[in-house]
Amino acid sequence: MENRLDGNAAGGILHEVFPFDMTATQATCAGCGATGPIGALAAYIHGMGTVVRCPSCDTALIRLAHVKGQYWMDMRGARVLQISGGR
Ligand SMILES: [Zn+2]
Repeated sequence: MENRLDGNAAGGILHEVFPFDMTATQATCAGCGATGPIGALAAYIHGMGTVVRCPSCDTALIRLAHVKGQYWMDMRGARVLQISGGR
């Protein structure tokens, strides 16, 4: 079973990997080129891990699983990430 949530629901596990809030990061979909904050994408969270999908074309931008002390991250569906920070 998986429930469709918004991308903010993926913020917790993303924050385990990245040292900042990823929900405000702008992600560009490799499928359709749409750009938006990760918090506004669709998130599916289930026993195998978390999948963040484009709400327009359903491409999986981020797949993230935590298995036996290892994070497995597949980001082939995210063409570009724009991460605010620095100067
Ligand atoms: Zn898309």
